[in-house]
Amino acid sequence: MMNFQDFRQQFRQLYSNEPRLFSAPGRVNLIGEHTDYNDGFVLPMAIDRRTVVAMAPRNDGRVRCLSTEFDEQIEFELKADLKPAHDWANHVRGVAACLLRDEYNLRGADLLIASEVPLGAGLSSSAALEIAVGYGLLKLAEHLVDPVRLALAAQKAEHEFAGTQCGVMDQFIACLAREGHALKIDCRTLEYEAVPVDLSDARVVVVNSMVKHELASSEYNQRRAECEEAVRRLAGHLPGIQSLRDVELEEFDQWADALPEPIRRRANHVITENARTLAAVEALQLGQLSHFGKLMKASHESLREDYQVSCRELDLLVEIAGRHSAVYGARMTGGGFGGCTVNLVKADEVESFMAETAEAYRWVIGIQPEIYVCQASGAVREENQ
Ligand code: ADP
Ligand code: MG
Repeated sequence: MMNFQDFRQQFRQLYSNEPRLFSAPGRVNLIGEHTDYNDGFVLPMAIDRRTVVAMAPRNDGRVRCLSTEFDEQIEFELKADLKPAHDWANHVRGVAACLLRDEYNLRGADLLIASEVPLGAGLSSSAALEIAVGYGLLKLAEHLVDPVRLALAAQKAEHEFAGTQCGVMDQFIACLAREGHALKIDCRTLEYEAVPVDLSDARVVVVNSMVKHELASSEYNQRRAECEEAVRRLAGHLPGIQSLRDVELEEFDQWADALPEPIRRRANHVITENARTLAAVEALQLGQLSHFGKLMKASHESLREDYQVSCRELDLLVEIAGRHSAVYGARMTGGGFGGCTVNLVKADEVESFMAETAEAYRWVIGIQPEIYVCQASGAVREENQ
């Protein structure tokens, strides 16, 4: 946990001013992978690793940003027609520009950013940053924060300034998470429901493979295109469908053979993953962790075999977990081709799970994985300590 007093002091030394602190959480998606851009269901949980932004207002309409992760100080003027630049601060610029375009007046500010969410590991440090900054800018200008509107502005920022055509999951969970709960999100209607995560006997353990393969963004765009093609082809048989979300499992079984490979497999993943996610919400509500774990395993197999977005390191981590008696279930989480796995582990055996996983992974891959035991954390907030 970050020491807020030290962080305030660091800000005072840099900017000779007293800051306010705002923080937003990273997240792990428990199940529902690559369903968001298919109008489907996801079940992320905010984790107790947060991005913290110290901010003080300025009177000249400019924003100055420093991050503990980068040496370079970035400065820009607050205006709606801001453009992305070749530096680390596009998420900051983007969320400022998108809030201005959304007709919020904002004040200039000095910013210092620090993060407990590892960057680029698939735990959404980007959304945590956008939401913490966006929330802070709104608060400094004395606006009431509408969390859904902030999430949508930040998603737009990610599209236009970071060049990632992400769904709305990451920004939503950072804005709307509830402590002790996961969040079921319907990515079509944007309806959401907090689902209690009872962690008295189990732990959510995230294992960071520490690898990120280059493929990720090109394959991501290709998967999106393949899903669109599946919809076009299936619409010939199932008139009126808008997305794979609209296709029932039974209907798909009837028409799957009409699709060429690999389109059939891609559609099969999305349609079965939506069904698994709804079943997983029910299992969580009923406290059926074994069933939840089985759905996690099936999700991973589907991502590996049908959607083909896993990689050797993630498969190995899931295989290691599958051999451990304390594990209910494990799967890759996030876009794939590296990043993290999420594991549901019996509480009293977490230590041995962590030790054995690290050892076995290091043995084969030669890299020490980072392992985070996660609590279900709350949404973006001001930190008053
Ligand atoms: P992820 O969201 O999975 O962590 P991304 O590639 O989407 O990975 O986001 C990482 C990017 O977000 C970084 O390269 C940087 O531009 C920005 N970012 C995230 N956290 C910080 C931070 N603490 N300080 C500065 N930039 C950050
Ligand atoms: Mg991101």
